[in-house]
Amino acid sequence: MPSPPLSPLDLLNVRASLSDEERLVQDSVARMVDEKVLPIIAGAFEEHRFPRELVPELAAMGLLGSSLQGYGCAGLNAVASGLICQELERGDSALRSFVSVQSSLCMYPIHVYGTELQKTKYLPPMAHGEIIGCFGLTEPHGGSDPANMKTHAKRKGGDWVINGAKMWITNAPIAHLCVVWAMTENGIHGFLVERGTPGFTASEIHHKFSLRASATGALYFDEVVVPDENRLPGVSGLKGPLSCLTQARYGIAWGVIGAAQACLSQLIDYTKSRVLFGRPLAATQLIQVRLAEMARGITTAQLLALQLGRLKDQGELQPVQVSLAKWNNVRMSLDVARDCRDMLGGAGISAEYAPIRHMLNLESVITYEGTEAVHQLSVGRELTGLAAF
Ligand SMILES: Cc1cc2nc3c(=O)[nH]c(=O)nc-3n(C[C@H](O)[C@H](O)[C@H](O)COP(=O)(O)OP(=O)(O)OC[C@H]3O[C@@H](n4cnc5c(N)ncnc54)[C@H](O)[C@@H]3O)c2cc1C
Repeated sequence: MPSPPLSPLDLLNVRASLSDEERLVQDSVARMVDEKVLPIIAGAFEEHRFPRELVPELAAMGLLGSSLQGYGCAGLNAVASGLICQELERGDSALRSFVSVQSSLCMYPIHVYGTELQKTKYLPPMAHGEIIGCFGLTEPHGGSDPANMKTHAKRKGGDWVINGAKMWITNAPIAHLCVVWAMTENGIHGFLVERGTPGFTASEIHHKFSLRASATGALYFDEVVVPDENRLPGVSGLKGPLSCLTQARYGIAWGVIGAAQACLSQLIDYTKSRVLFGRPLAATQLIQVRLAEMARGITTAQLLALQLGRLKDQGELQPVQVSLAKWNNVRMSLDVARDCRDMLGGAGISAEYAPIRHMLNLESVITYEGTEAVHQLSVGRELTGLAAF
């Protein structure tokens, strides 16, 4: 009997290891991306515009805070929420970034470290997309070293007074709520600051050549007074923001597979139909080696992500494992996008083809949520027991 045909985007048939529910989630998000995202995303990228009109759709599908339990959230398992990221990033990294920030960096800390009042006040409207969040950790003087935090909060009676600035913050220009991390005399604490609070302002960063369909900005805190009830009481120290980043990096490790799949899929079609020197490009050895190399990278990343997801669902996932996967999968995806761009020749610089958009986006993804170097150093520390940073 002949073997069944393999999917070029899933050569080891990872899909066969998924549960029915995980497949259902993946298929419904894939359909939404095909129908609603792909027709508009190149235009949004060119216009440097976050496609906000998609937020109600993301919310209606339960994609905001999808792995959280209760408070209007879908309570999906880790693999399903990873697949959501993969399909969204097949559309564009901006969309996955929006969902990651909302879910992992804003809803997660409220869910895990917040009071019951904070949870009931913020989580249901965040799951419905009515409140958009942003996460303020990075500061202008250097994001790789968050322990050197200058933004500070001082106790004043029953209130806190926050001063400082945050830079490169996803969703900052459109957020209603900011989870901001500030140094206090008892270490780093997280605070919930609503838009409109006196002294709190956000500005947009223009002229980005990457993640142009994402809204990125800076946050300024000038004598911003918030009551103690706006502090996240369940955590102090760097563990707070770092635990949120572990959640978001997990999503990135899955998401970037989608970006690479989008590029490879387009290139298989293109090289089969482009005839040079009397035969399709795809019939040349050099092109096939490059396509095969991409499939190898994507397949390895898929297996890594799946194992990460299973570990997470068993409650055994460790941050250094996420570092390894974020590093490997983003590097793979960026290399795939750059090589696809090249194989398109002149057409590769046009927004009509997806690779240059994914390539430019991935230049941010390899930098944010811990640069490649920082993740390599985390793995190095695990191997040697010595911190080199
Ligand atoms: C589009 C975008 C969206 C973002 N969204 C958010 C957000 O929502 N919230 C948020 O808080 N932050 C966000 N960031 C910030 C991001 O996390 C930081 O840019 C990142 O952590 C790097 O910090 P930095 O830019 O200050 O670079 P630096 O920390 O100044 O690093 C510069 C270079 O030095 C290298 N380096 C640093 N330390 C070492 C070392 N010890 N040894 C060797 N090399 C080293 C780095 O790898 C990098 O190549 C976003 C960034 C971008 C680009």
